[in-house]
Amino acid sequence: MEDCIFCKIIEGKVPSAKIYEDERVLSFLDIAPANKGHCLVIPKNHSRNLSEMDDKDAEASIRAARKVAKALSLGLGCSGFNLVMSNGIEAGQVVFHSHIHVIPRFKNDGLKIKWPHIKYTESEIKEYAEKLKKFL
Ligand code: AMP
Ligand code: ZN
Repeated sequence: MEDCIFCKIIEGKVPSAKIYEDERVLSFLDIAPANKGHCLVIPKNHSRNLSEMDDKDAEASIRAARKVAKALSLGLGCSGFNLVMSNGIEAGQVVFHSHIHVIPRFKNDGLKIKWPHIKYTESEIKEYAEKLKKFL
């Protein structure tokens, strides 16, 4: 895909600190990490986001994210990790080639990956469930 920075990384036209590769996915260090060791897992086939991604690429990506998380624990001694995936501009996506962030977490690292907790009215939660169930 022309002008896609992650496709260029896959093609070797842009350098990256690669840590893992198989036939479907690649993982490398994020250039501007939330914590040192923050990695990205990307499918080699270009897709813009999780909705567009091929099922097999999605499976391979989550499998690779688990391997990377294990390496972060064994290699860096992190005690937890966050998986983050932004899909769409409104969700904060900046690079439009699907990617999963694997962010190592350490005690008292001060990182905040939190959102507010709002409330439903009494009937509203059931209405939302009905709206979604139709499509599942
Ligand atoms: P997102 O906001 O989910 O689209 O995240 C895009 C991520 O890609 C950001 O965390 C960037 O720091 C990272 N990024 C952008 N360009 C590069 C690059 N050339 N090498 C490594 N990471 C990159
Ligand atoms: Zn791409």
